Amino acid sequence: MKAKAAVDPSSSSSSRVIVITSGKGGVGKTTTTANLGTCLARLGQRVALIDADVGLRNLDLLLGLENRVLYTAMDVLNGGCKLEQALIRDKRWPTKLSVLCISKNRQRYHLSRVQMVMLVDALRQGYDFVLIDCPAGIDVGFFNAVGPAQEAIIVTTPDITSIRDADRVVGLLEADGLTEAKLLVNRVRPEMVSQEDMMSVADVQGALGLPLLGAIPEDPQVIISTNRGEPLVLRGQLTPSGIAFQECAQQLVQGGGTELLVRRHLHWGALASQWLGSRASSARNWVVEALTGCLEWLGVLHTPSSSYPGQRGVLRGADSSASEEGGADWDEDSLCLGSDAASQEDTRQG
Ligand code: ADP
Ligand code: MG
Repeated sequence: MKAKAAVDPSSSSSSRVIVITSGKGGVGKTTTTANLGTCLARLGQRVALIDADVGLRNLDLLLGLENRVLYTAMDVLNGGCKLEQALIRDKRWPTKLSVLCISKNRQRYHLSRVQMVMLVDALRQGYDFVLIDCPAGIDVGFFNAVGPAQEAIIVTTPDITSIRDADRVVGLLEADGLTEAKLLVNRVRPEMVSQEDMMSVADVQGALGLPLLGAIPEDPQVIISTNRGEPLVLRGQLTPSGIAFQECAQQLVQGGGTELLVRRHLHWGALASQWLGSRASSARNWVVEALTGCLEWLGVLHTPSSSYPGQRGVLRGADSSASEEGGADWDEDSLCLGSDAASQEDTRQG
């Protein structure tokens, strides 16, 4: 496998290119991409989301943008439009959030890793974050999608099949030169964890040996939001999963881990109760209990159980045999993010 040699770190600004990947399908990669992207835009970051799931695209659906996909990256590569025209600007944050689809649904795969790197390099000029929604599996679509990334968010659910696939993906990323990976555990059910019917977040983290970006609870609102084409984090009253996505986005921008964040909450809880004086001792107990419960739920205070047999490195086996696709004909002009170029929305209006 050719590693990240094609990426020229000096070629662009300080933009961060993060691939959201998992190995297994259906664990929440697209949900994470849509919600993290929306939160980052709301935090004032300029964000480009790339749906690299060729042939089974659905990021546009989750964001309610499905009727606005006129051009794709394939059209850019074929010289059919400029990159700016293939970017769909989210009307909620037109200057902050854009989506690029690699291909139309059911379109055959023609994009190489080199082309993917060039596309993302062009995007890096105008965005603070480029999030790549990776297809499931570890075939050519995976290798092309991770090609331009310097960071990865590994999404897994707390079950051994998903964890084993995630472990394999982490090994492949390491072999590809990508070592900046963080873990996001999705669809956690605290009541099942407390009954030891589900692995805790600490168990999952122990098995994969990755720093934790966050844990998202199972939430029926995710499905409702998906069907409405409106990211969960846009709801007026945020549910726990919406809050969790928001905190993940804050951590991405500010740095620091979930453990740190929860400790910070504990610190402020203790200070607040001191300020309230003795009458507030029960309130303080409540705050400390609630936050301790929160830590336990996240697995920070919970000793990993031995219920999961996998150890980091035992499951993992890096595969360096994947092949590299060659580049194709290329129109560099079409990749310019010029101010005079029109986005898909502008094109439609024009
Ligand atoms: P992937 O992109 O990894 O294939 P998706 O993001 O499409 O996964 O999610 C797969 C399904 O799981 C979708 O129906 C989605 O609504 C649902 N889902 C994802 N995260 C959660 C969650 N935290 N709670 C409930 N349902 C979820
Ligand atoms: Mg998906």
